[in-house]
Amino acid sequence: MKIWLNGRLVDRAHAVVNVFDHGLLYGDGVFEGIRVYNGRVFHSQAHLDRLYVSAKQIRLAIPYPKQELHEAMVETIKANNAAYAYIRLVVTRGEGTLGLSPFKCSKPSVIVIYDDIQLYPKEMYTDGMAVIVAKTIRTSARMVDPSVKSLNYLNNILAKIESVDAGVSEAIMLNEHGDVAEATGDNVFIVKNGTVITPPPSAGILVGITRSIVIELSKKLGIPLKESTVTRQDLNEADECFLTGTAAEVCPVTRIDDALVGNGKVGDITRRLIKAYREFIDADLRE
Ligand code: PMP
Repeated sequence: MKIWLNGRLVDRAHAVVNVFDHGLLYGDGVFEGIRVYNGRVFHSQAHLDRLYVSAKQIRLAIPYPKQELHEAMVETIKANNAAYAYIRLVVTRGEGTLGLSPFKCSKPSVIVIYDDIQLYPKEMYTDGMAVIVAKTIRTSARMVDPSVKSLNYLNNILAKIESVDAGVSEAIMLNEHGDVAEATGDNVFIVKNGTVITPPPSAGILVGITRSIVIELSKKLGIPLKESTVTRQDLNEADECFLTGTAAEVCPVTRIDDALVGNGKVGDITRRLIKAYREFIDADLRE
């Protein structure tokens, strides 16, 4: 397996960063998780745009233009010769001192990790998945702007641990006001009386690229959709629920804590959006 590291393709065993890298010491850096479908980077531009916005927000200057990072991904895919994969594009602050100051770091480390895609089991897409509502709340937007996809996921990891302890695959996280924010690495949607509802960016979420596509698809299909606060009660009373994310795509949720969502079966609107998302990917590949 080949990894692209600071401008060079290296074997996985040699893909290492220095122990003084602030990405390791402080989670000081940003990243993107990107899919490769049929040898092509899916929505490369949107991911690169978000990466550069994240970096700018933390005053991290990525030492390559976007186009070069796109080419680095293409080069990495070719070197690994696989059609379906997952790419993790990571930019850390780079090697510095043990002190916090990012300005003592010489230059950012830029990494394109190539890996097999780890998916939820197939049955989850037909039967739905069980989730919990985590006790760990999502980092407040007043602490770290949620549009920064930073390397510091400790908050999400703690919620993930709760879900593993509960024997389920995912956890929905509430924000500081007790409303639904997002899952540990996916956005949350519910359906109530035929309307699709997803929390707005102000709920303290990462504005997912899959989320944006699903919103567009919903509009195209003529399914009413609104971005508005989803309370804990809305979640309990939802007819349908699903998660969206680069790796998960559109994944139905049929149980939350001890209660079934709706009748406990994957709902009609969720099914339509799963299908539409698949078709969207296929159409994108044909372009
Ligand atoms: N929320 C969080 C916290 C995430 O890390 C991610 C990406 N893994 C998402 C939502 C979904 O974003 P996207 O659809 O762009 O993958």
